[in-house]
Formats: sequence, structure tokens, C-alpha cells
Amino acid sequence: MNLILLGPPGAGKGTQAARLESLYGLKQLSTGDMLRAAVASGSALGQEVKGIMERGELVSDAIIVRMIADRITAPDCKDGFILDGFPRTVGQAEALDRMLAEKGLKLDHVIELKVDDSALVARISGRFSCAKCGAGYHDTNRRPRKDGVCDACGGTEFVRRKDDNAETVATRLKAYHAQTAPLLPYYQGRGALKSVDGMAAIDDVAQALDKIIGKGGK
Ligand code: ADP
Ligand code: ADP
Ligand code: ZN
Repeated sequence: MNLILLGPPGAGKGTQAARLESLYGLKQLSTGDMLRAAVASGSALGQEVKGIMERGELVSDAIIVRMIADRITAPDCKDGFILDGFPRTVGQAEALDRMLAEKGLKLDHVIELKVDDSALVARISGRFSCAKCGAGYHDTNRRPRKDGVCDACGGTEFVRRKDDNAETVATRLKAYHAQTAPLLPYYQGRGALKSVDGMAAIDDVAQALDKIIGKGGK
């Protein structure tokens, strides 16, 4: 099964994609994670995108499309993938359509996590993750079961993203409304779009997703 999770920064895409990956064996493909890995490695690509990401602007379609093209047919995607943070522009969505047609793949669901702008700043400024395994947490909404210890791997070091500050969030939200929101009518027009109330608690959002993808039994 192949899914797209759409929604503004902080909507909960990564949180839900990680759960779907571990429960159902779908591969989470996060363009943000791929770009952060490139920046951390100091590669030419990383150097090219570092400043853009720190400012909260979008990386060019050409770079992003190239990055995704090899991933969706990699062996770890054989049971399906979850696109998290891609596509983010109509140009990327059109490139994805061409890519899927060429590879004989299809999208099963495009799911929008609907969250008010007013909630996003608090979500993003409270976000942190395990330095060892990447598990995601929040200062108030999702704390580790034992303070200072990762639930998933027992790690004790945590990191915060450099772009998760109020100033950059404003730029990212603007980019979302101007460049990504037009994807909603793009997918709605073909009857592929489903919306979920992303303001609900994490477990309730998870249940709503299970219902859409027909995995309600687990
Ligand atoms: P969030 O989860 O908060 O929405 P991401 O981790 O998806 O943020 O993205 C972080 C940054 O990486 C973005 O602000 C942007 O600079 C870049 N980025 C990630 N995915 C894309 C994409 N599909 N197109 C353009 N830029 C992207
Ligand atoms: P995205 O990948 O869409 O940018 P994340 O999944 O990283 O968003 O979530 C942003 C922050 O909000 C994280 O700290 C996460 O723990 C928290 N969060 C995610 N979903 C919810 C929710 N439904 N209610 C409250 N907090 C949430
Ligand atoms: Zn961990």
C-alpha cells in the first residue's frame, strides 16, 4: 500500500508515519529526514540545502524529485511506502505522477492531517527526538515514559531541530499555504483525498488513519 501524508509542519506526519511503518511494514520516506542526513554528512547536496532549510524555505523540486525517484523502488519499499513531507509543490506532485506511471505503481490514499496554524507553533517548539534512534517526542504532548530515557531504544541523548524556532516556523507556514496547500484541490479533484482531524490526540489520529487504510483490527 502506498500513501501520502499531507499537512503543515508540525501536523503529526512523522509521528503517524513512524507508527504505520513499525506496525504495518510500510516504509516511511521523509524528504526532511533525507535532507537532514545529507546536511549532517557534509555532502555537496547537504551544503547546497543547509541554508535553505535553516531559513524555512523549500528546496528546489529538481533536487527533491531526484532524491525520491530511486527510493520508491528500493527493496525496502516492496510492501509499500508512506510519503512524509513530499510532494510539497504541484510540480513535485506532477513529477510523482510521472514517476509512478513509469514504474507501474499507484497511490492508495492521500491523507491530509488538518491542524490549525495556532496549534502548530506549540507543536514545533516542543518537538524533540532521540539522538540515537530518531523516535519523536514533545515537551508536553508526548513525553518519554521515563524522563530522559527513549521509550524505543533506551537512549539518553535528545536533539532539537535547528529550524524548529518561532521565526523559521512562520516562513515554513507561509511556504505551506502558498506552495503546498494547492495540492489539496489537486488530489481532491481525482477523488483521492481523505481528511483526518489532526487536532485530536495522537492515538485518536492513529485510529482514524487505521480506519482509512483498512487496518482497524490491529
Ligand atoms: P516538517 O516535518 O516540520 O514539515 P520537514 O522535516 O518535512 O519539516 O522539512 C524540513 C525542511 O526540509 C523544509 O522546511 C524544507 O526546507 C526541506 N524540505 C523537506 N521536504 C521538502 C520537499 N518535499 N520540498 C522542498 N523542501 C523540502
Ligand atoms: P510533522 O512530521 O508533520 O512535522 P511531527 O510528527 O514531528 O509533525 O509532530 C510535531 C510535534 O507534535 C512532535 O513533537 C509530536 O510529538 C507532536 N504531535 C504529533 N501529533 C500530535 C497530536 N495529534 N497531538 C499533539 N501533539 C502531537
Ligand atoms: Zn531512541
